[in-house]
Amino acid sequence: MKTQEIEKKVRQQDAQVLAQGYSPAIRAMEIAAIVSFVSLEVALVYRLWGNPYAGTWLLLSAVLLGYLAADFVSGFVHWMGDTWGSTEMPLLGKALIRPFREHHVDEKAITRHDFVETNGNNCLISLPVAIMALCLPMSGPGWVFCASFLGAMIFWVMATNQFHKWSHMDSPPALVGFLQRVHLILPPDHHRIHHTKPYNKYYCITVGWMNKPLTMVHFFPTAERLITWATGLLPRQDDIGAEAARALVVAAGGSEAPVVQAAKELLTQATVQEKPASTRP
Ligand SMILES: [Zn+2]
Ligand SMILES: [Zn+2]
Repeated sequence: MKTQEIEKKVRQQDAQVLAQGYSPAIRAMEIAAIVSFVSLEVALVYRLWGNPYAGTWLLLSAVLLGYLAADFVSGFVHWMGDTWGSTEMPLLGKALIRPFREHHVDEKAITRHDFVETNGNNCLISLPVAIMALCLPMSGPGWVFCASFLGAMIFWVMATNQFHKWSHMDSPPALVGFLQRVHLILPPDHHRIHHTKPYNKYYCITVGWMNKPLTMVHFFPTAERLITWATGLLPRQDDIGAEAARALVVAAGGSEAPVVQAAKELLTQATVQEKPASTRP
């Protein structure tokens, strides 16, 4: 099926109803998450400060690797939020899934969100990692690297929605525009690829460096097939409607990753060869 035909089948939820789902209780939770996140990160920097193993190169590589990891995490979480679950789910539905649905029907809404609404979510999901990084012993270079890597990764995870918001702004601040042009943070034209219906690629939104490699290895389509196989769930049914979601699965059937195709061929060959042997008396 052609992409245009699938696009016509896309049915989305009402932007206003989605926007109303942002309740005072969720906002209070987000404020608490931001305060806890910042406190934990400051405590981590304090612990690393003056640590004999925390050298410049170790810290620089932790920050850079953390940036790559955050880009991957942003893609993974974004893919989860876009593809699975529904806004009707208890707790998760309103707090975590609703913003993903809203972002596809009203992509400019993010540019109107204040600091709390933009960054609360990512602080919340980073809290367990922040606690873990702070609890590491820091008694050797390996531990110090792990703690700085985790601390840096969640710092970039927190920055992700800010970078994402800037990529949707018509005229971002001059320095931000420069960083986007040299592709050190998420560039708008790169992110546009994700906002093309049916929203099934280029999920990474910190800087987007991981989008090409993940597309080349068919990372998300393979993960979707595995989850559908294990649970029977239809990917992005809640986001684009059951009809478009089903059409997309059918269309994707013919474009499997080379490694999956090769594995299937091998399996078929093996079963064909086995058959005559099993019929022998
Ligand atoms: Zn999306
Ligand atoms: Zn976006």
